[in-house]
Amino acid sequence: MPRRAAMNADRYRVREGTSFRLKQIDPGDTGSFQSKREAGEALQAGTAQLSELQDKLYAQDRWALLLVFQAMDAAGKDGTIKHVMSGVNPQGCQVHSFKAPSPEEIDHDFLWRSAKALPERGRIGIFNRSHYEEVLVVRVHSEILAKQRIPPELLTAKIWQQRYHDINAFESYLTRNGVVIRKFFLHLSREEQRRRFLSRLEEPDKNWKFSLADAKEREHWDDYMAAYEDMIRHTSTPDAPWYVVPADHKWFTRVVVSEAIVETLQSLNLAYPTVDATKRKELAEVRRALENEAVLVRKARPKKGSAPKKPAKKKTATRKKAARLGTRA
Ligand code: ATP
Ligand code: MG
Repeated sequence: MPRRAAMNADRYRVREGTSFRLKQIDPGDTGSFQSKREAGEALQAGTAQLSELQDKLYAQDRWALLLVFQAMDAAGKDGTIKHVMSGVNPQGCQVHSFKAPSPEEIDHDFLWRSAKALPERGRIGIFNRSHYEEVLVVRVHSEILAKQRIPPELLTAKIWQQRYHDINAFESYLTRNGVVIRKFFLHLSREEQRRRFLSRLEEPDKNWKFSLADAKEREHWDDYMAAYEDMIRHTSTPDAPWYVVPADHKWFTRVVVSEAIVETLQSLNLAYPTVDATKRKELAEVRRALENEAVLVRKARPKKGSAPKKPAKKKTATRKKAARLGTRA
């Protein structure tokens, strides 16, 4: 990644959760970039690096990378995932979108469905929304919590603190098992969301993306921002940090996320597995066998240009007689 871009991701990583305030980050910020074109070039470089790193991650098959994306509607989660991961081999990547829980999911503890969707070793797992909805939408809408059928005596004022605690414990557990976690909050301004909603209404190709529910959710903007801030303050840990990424300029969001992922994978010092002496011997034998096979095939093949020999005709009695008399049969 060019030098210029290498200065960006780090400044949006939340290091000290307890002192974090959402207003410290301007959604319209574009960091060290002056233009979309400049960021586009950096993103391209990042995509190429990511592709190489993912190949090693997969081959090494030790670490897994879990990327969590949270945001208000129209902040650009889908587009960011699409662009940043565009160079990655689909075989090594799994995207999981979390919607409102199904009856089966509601019947379990709140981390159950996240645990089921975790990436395997060697893979990159992407959570498009995640277990964090449990301290966001569920906190903003108390009726959702009521429908979770949690025993009433467990529903106390401490529930959000308890959920932060459980999430942190879950993420520490994963970290200690080789799942590296990075979390991204795409920080959009209310005004930019209004503009994007309007463009979804105005452009027929974008109509499908708009729902009345999205517009209604917008009415709870301040509650959401308070819930996001509290969540980031309590769950940004050194092992599983949040990045609060300015999201009013999609091109900037993408390059910051790309850089953060590249940096994370680089820090793992990934390498292709080396082969031991036994394996090297095995490979040498296979190589010899394949080379010998090529020699045999070459020998068996007729030389180029030489006409295939006609099979010798059997001398019949008539032909033998004609040959004796010097006439043609
Ligand atoms: P897009 O709108 O781009 O398709 P999206 O992630 O907004 O993507 P939707 O189907 O519009 O997808 O919304 C999913 C909804 O599911 C969100 O409103 C989210 O808050 C809700 N949801 C996710 N997890 C939970 C949960 N644990 N409890 C309740 N609601 C949840
Ligand atoms: Mg939506």
